Amino acid sequence: MSNWTRRALLGSLSGAAAAMSLAAQQASERRRSGGKIKITDLRCAIIGRNPVVRIVTDQGISGYGQAESTKPYLKPMVLFYKNYILDEDPTDVERVMLKIRRLGASKPWGSAVSAIEIALWDIAGQAAGVPVYKLMGGKIRDRVRVYNGAIRFPMTGHMPSDYAENMAKMKEAKEGFTLIKQAVGFHNPRMMRAIPDAWYDEPRSGAPHADRGFMTERGLKHVIACVEAMKKVLGDEVGLALDAGPGWMLKDAIKFARALEPLNIAWIEDALTGDYTPYPNADLYRDLTVSTSVPIHTGEQIYLRQNFKDLIQKQAIDVVGPDPEDVGGIAELKWIAEYADLHGISMAPHGIFDGLIGLAAHVQVAAAMPQNYIAFEYPLGQPDWWYQIVDGLPDPIVKQGFIDVWDKPGLGVTFNVQAAKARLSEEDRNFFD
Ligand SMILES: [Mg+2]
Repeated sequence: MSNWTRRALLGSLSGAAAAMSLAAQQASERRRSGGKIKITDLRCAIIGRNPVVRIVTDQGISGYGQAESTKPYLKPMVLFYKNYILDEDPTDVERVMLKIRRLGASKPWGSAVSAIEIALWDIAGQAAGVPVYKLMGGKIRDRVRVYNGAIRFPMTGHMPSDYAENMAKMKEAKEGFTLIKQAVGFHNPRMMRAIPDAWYDEPRSGAPHADRGFMTERGLKHVIACVEAMKKVLGDEVGLALDAGPGWMLKDAIKFARALEPLNIAWIEDALTGDYTPYPNADLYRDLTVSTSVPIHTGEQIYLRQNFKDLIQKQAIDVVGPDPEDVGGIAELKWIAEYADLHGISMAPHGIFDGLIGLAAHVQVAAAMPQNYIAFEYPLGQPDWWYQIVDGLPDPIVKQGFIDVWDKPGLGVTFNVQAAKARLSEEDRNFFD
């Protein structure tokens, strides 16, 4: 028995410690009986709009993972992997991943593999009786910083004064965020459409973030004025990051970044490529990054560590922002964080639509990230009833911009099955059985 487990067994009678000691006892019994765990089923339900993955085992342990709420179409993709992982030992996470990782791709097609990876770690943690952060190398922080990309208030318009007024509300949000990310430029079509002829191409529709092109002087000035207005509200009390693209031409992005240099912006995200762009374009990013002192960020759509290689080795960016639910999971995210750190690059994971299981996965891996970690993007449970169907999260979740890392085994959150069942569609009614 490890010192850590012993401490948990002998520790206080708090709820967390009691839950821990029960799990640790079960894990130790399993080890004594030589019990190999086997995957017996892979299920997927769409709860709200989030695909939820459940991996069922023959030892009474289930692991959960989640994909973004923007992907309610994902169920067949998750189930596609089922036959590859049945009968495998889920605690040998990497061996299972070797069977399926090759069959994924850039966002949105890496998300099924990612959700499965997270569910495997949930099982591995429960089977060992330890929180997942222990399996990620152990925590180096007891609380993790989050940034606000999700909590928003209705806009009154899309001129600089509207953004300033809105930012004032976000600054006062009860979560006390120390860093807020705001959509600007091509990432914010309403900002771009608020003035005539902001850029030389025409507005596009279809899959998200289709606008792209050469900015007019008027367009560029409008975006800069909106940023200046927001920054004036925040001062140096709360950081401001900008989700800006994709869609900027290189020289426009350089002009934009240089204009913002006196403002100490936290980062400009995805100016050139990003979101659903299925390639990272490291050479262009390198040109942008060396042309300005504003930190340049990208990476939320990228699948697997290999696809970060150029961005990181060429020091083409200053901050990487993979999403654990798209990049291939939390171990993948940890690996990229370490590799980025070797190259002087910071880490700020994307997460806005990752849901509450995703939130738990973020907390576990963020606790174990190296010191290049800035903050992850705080996801909400949407709709609101998600907070009633998941147990184990702190209350309140965010305090002064941070989340305390919890110590329950696995991801440390579970479904309140009775409440959650009521939210299942007819098609998914056996999900928890
Ligand atoms: Mg983004």
